[in-house]
Amino acid sequence: MDLLSTLVDKGLRRELPTREEALAVLATSDDELLDVVAAAGKVRRQWFGRRVKLNYLVNLKSGLCPEDCSYCSQRLGSKAEILKYTWLKPDDASKAAAAGVAGGAKRVCLVASGRGPTDKDVDRVSETISAIKEQNEGVEVCACLGLLSDGQAGRLRAAGADAYNHNLNTSEATYGDICTTHDFSDRVSTVQQAQAAGMSACSGLIAGMGESDADLVDVVFALRELDPDSVPVNFLIPFEGTPLAKEWNLTPQRALRILAMVRFVCPDIEVRLAGGREVHLRSMQPLALHLVNSIFLGDYLTSEGQAGKDDLAMIEDAGFEVEGSDTTTLPEHRRPCGGHADTEAAAGETCAPQAAEDAGAPAATVPAPSDEARRDLVSVRRRGAGTDLPPNA
Ligand code: SF4
Repeated sequence: MDLLSTLVDKGLRRELPTREEALAVLATSDDELLDVVAAAGKVRRQWFGRRVKLNYLVNLKSGLCPEDCSYCSQRLGSKAEILKYTWLKPDDASKAAAAGVAGGAKRVCLVASGRGPTDKDVDRVSETISAIKEQNEGVEVCACLGLLSDGQAGRLRAAGADAYNHNLNTSEATYGDICTTHDFSDRVSTVQQAQAAGMSACSGLIAGMGESDADLVDVVFALRELDPDSVPVNFLIPFEGTPLAKEWNLTPQRALRILAMVRFVCPDIEVRLAGGREVHLRSMQPLALHLVNSIFLGDYLTSEGQAGKDDLAMIEDAGFEVEGSDTTTLPEHRRPCGGHADTEAAAGETCAPQAAEDAGAPAATVPAPSDEARRDLVSVRRRGAGTDLPPNA
């Protein structure tokens, strides 16, 4: 059986591809791209139909972070001219969230810069969660506040947080190249704390930071082992004023291959197309809807996305539909604990992270920068949360 038939077969059975197969997806040629998208699209439709879940970001606290994540415009020493503000008041955050919900968002993601919250910050966010839940019936709330300390996950869960996001971002082997103030295991531990407290775990990656194909496959397999319910795939937005400003490594074709690989490794998990979609996929964005079942509506934390109404038009034009709040995102076998695949599914998975790597797998390569820097596509967010201007939703 050829590669794509094998991957479709496995995806429909919720069986993990081998590491060699995941690498082979990344090594496919442009001639094969539509076949790759069509194959991963079959897996996407099996578990998520043609539904697209919309998520809306509210940046509760922007900039001035003491950590040094090199991809981040809010990092220590960042010269990016982003909005900088301290904690939004619960009512202001709730108003911003309501705009997203009115635009069709089912989940609101409350994000704050920083290494992690203090207990006082957790109180503050708990108030914000209550305000949002009171004013927006049925909305899912995800908190993204950095590394958690003992007991904080339980307190957020008790306050009504449905989910917690903390991304692994890149492979364990290269984590030290993108950040020196915390490590990969800190991130894994926070995701596990969120799961243990009963929150749905959301954890993903950033592609385009100069990593190899092997690094990408490593981080996606590491995520799969953590078994989150949602996996956001970010494509680096190379902000001027950050150490990765010159990393323009992605083409739309490569971005699609990466999304297809993630779909094959995470067949029945919410795969969310996150930051950098407009910058790197550009006019190819609609094709990505065949691979992912979730996107962000409107703007990102510190940069602007395409207009929310254009997101909605794109979904409709491509023949997909916005997922309503009365529909459960995950397929039935992954409910209702908000956490993990049932044991039957877990037993059926064949996680083979290493075996095939040396057996003729395509060589892992760092793609040569093939695109000119498109700085014109990166615009700092100047509206929405933390400003007097209405949000883009
Ligand atoms: S901890 Fe978060 S906000 Fe701070 S630099 Fe890292 S990614 Fe940015």
